[in-house]
Amino acid sequence: MTDNRTPESRSALMARIGGKNTAPELVVRRLLHSLGYRFRLHRRDLPGTPDVVFPSRRKAIFVNGCFWHAHGCRIGQPPKSKPEFWKPKLERNRARDNRNRADLRAMGWTVLTVWQCQARKADQLSTRLLTFLGPPTKNPIDMREAKR
Ligand SMILES: [Zn+2]
Repeated sequence: MTDNRTPESRSALMARIGGKNTAPELVVRRLLHSLGYRFRLHRRDLPGTPDVVFPSRRKAIFVNGCFWHAHGCRIGQPPKSKPEFWKPKLERNRARDNRNRADLRAMGWTVLTVWQCQARKADQLSTRLLTFLGPPTKNPIDMREAKR
């Protein structure tokens, strides 16, 4: 990976990719909202601080950047330069993800990982979210409509 960014713009990029409220995360949240789900964000009291949480369903979603979480897809490849630096770092991230998912499951949660590259395909993503979560809760307005 050629890297001719200034340290400032690079750290901005790293913060964006590694941090919360990333672009793919916003895509997932918008989609969940449009499907009619209600959810909580970034529950720090749960292992790994899942990005989207459905407390009553005990279900949690991680939205992972392909690079930082070492997806292995086209955009998730490690840089070719400095493998001695990147390889252990990305492997640690991946091991930590696995541990967090296992800890959540041990606490009785069901966990879904949505990858950055999957957030681009809205139709497939909707189907996956609906399958994972089950039907959205009807809000009072929908209930009134249904009674007519
Ligand atoms: Zn990916």
